[in-house]
Amino acid sequence: MEEEKKQHRLLLMASPLEGHMTPLLNLAHILFSKGFSVTILHTLFNSPDPNSYPHFSFHTIPDGLSEADTLDAVHLTDLINIRCAHPLKECLPSLLSNSPQPVPCFISDAALHFTQPICDELKLPRLVLRTGGASSFLLFASFPLLREKGYLPVQESRLEEPVVDFPPLKVKDLPKFQSQDPEAFYKLVCRFVEECKASSGVIWNTFEELESAALTKLRQDFSFPLYPIGPFHKSLLTGSASSASLLTPDRSCMSWLDKQEHNSVVYVSFGSIAAISEAEFLEIAWGLANSLQPFLWVIRPGSIRDSEGLEPLPSGFLENLGGRGYIVKWAPQEQVLSHPAVGAFWTHNGWNSTLESICEGVPMICMPCFADQKVNAKYASSVWNVGVQLQNKLERGEVEKTIKKVMVGDGANEIRDNALNLKEKASACLKEGGSSYCFLDSLVSDILSLASSASSSSTAQ
Ligand code: UDP
Repeated sequence: MEEEKKQHRLLLMASPLEGHMTPLLNLAHILFSKGFSVTILHTLFNSPDPNSYPHFSFHTIPDGLSEADTLDAVHLTDLINIRCAHPLKECLPSLLSNSPQPVPCFISDAALHFTQPICDELKLPRLVLRTGGASSFLLFASFPLLREKGYLPVQESRLEEPVVDFPPLKVKDLPKFQSQDPEAFYKLVCRFVEECKASSGVIWNTFEELESAALTKLRQDFSFPLYPIGPFHKSLLTGSASSASLLTPDRSCMSWLDKQEHNSVVYVSFGSIAAISEAEFLEIAWGLANSLQPFLWVIRPGSIRDSEGLEPLPSGFLENLGGRGYIVKWAPQEQVLSHPAVGAFWTHNGWNSTLESICEGVPMICMPCFADQKVNAKYASSVWNVGVQLQNKLERGEVEKTIKKVMVGDGANEIRDNALNLKEKASACLKEGGSSYCFLDSLVSDILSLASSASSSSTAQ
């Protein structure tokens, strides 16, 4: 078995967005550890540093993107789907024929739907990596139905209405995206779901025990195999996820965390894309200050609209807190979440952040911004009961109240117990005989059988 696997190479194509690139590289590590050689195909924009992955080969797909094209994630993804099609078509046959080992399949991020017809033409099976959760995918797959029933596009007057067939979601929890073109997100989602249906299977960075209801429904509705083999970053012995980060983390926050009390710190980060207004930024700052809890806050350059850095903060803000607040541009998030001083994660509920929080048993303060984040936040707060959603307007009094609720309020212990319980499940699924462990075995053996059916059909020709 080992020898047979070493004889195969996998081609994986990444989306350049941080929240997509990291899980794809982690998946590549997992498959490499299972004996496959790996080639990563990537855009020129946000290309990973090959020096950090000496055991992978890399191939750049020209994307023709300019800085302005990269500001809107939906627009960016649409452009990649258009502009990378021709270059991929050109290079794929030679990548296949020049590969030292046979290539049983192509694995691409779900958002790169353009890869399916190209693979079909070459009769190359395509597996999909969906970097988000299964519950939100179920919603995405139901977009046409949700539109038919009038839930989409989301109307302000219906926000509190329950979405029939998708309890406990309300209309306000449905995915939406503030894009240059409001229709673009809907079209992108429908297209990538369609191309998932045409694929040979979908790999998920989730685990059965976390999203069993959605995974069961997906198995009923779709014929493609599902491989929930997450959480990827915990499946790696050497924790290579942080090295997949496209930004350099400021590790000085770790020694600041060392000085804080157990479970006392609120870690605040809204991921790699979300941006807030200057007014919201100030409400967050004062809410954090008034909560009297220590906080570690990631303020990414560009994350405050119309402002470059921390200049909206009142002068002396941090100094007046007497060391109770620490701000970085980018944190080593997984390490931060696993630090015993961290008591809560105020998150935008990107899927990676949600999963990373779950894996460390850290309760969440949920403030979803767009896309699947609203669904993830609803699951965190109302299904897994490991967090509290910031309700109403982003306002300092509300922030202070919510932080206190999660850190020291009446229900805080229950939320923490639920989070620790889920952490156990996230760890157990990766152990021998656990759900993700077994699904990874099936993925490996299914890839090998794709290889043997490809070689028997080429012998027959
Ligand atoms: N992240 C990080 N340092 C930070 C903030 C975020 O390493 O200061 C990582 C985080 O660990 C996660 C990813 O960036 O893996 C963000 O992905 P997510 O899906 O949560 O959100 P997105 O950035 O796609 O909105």
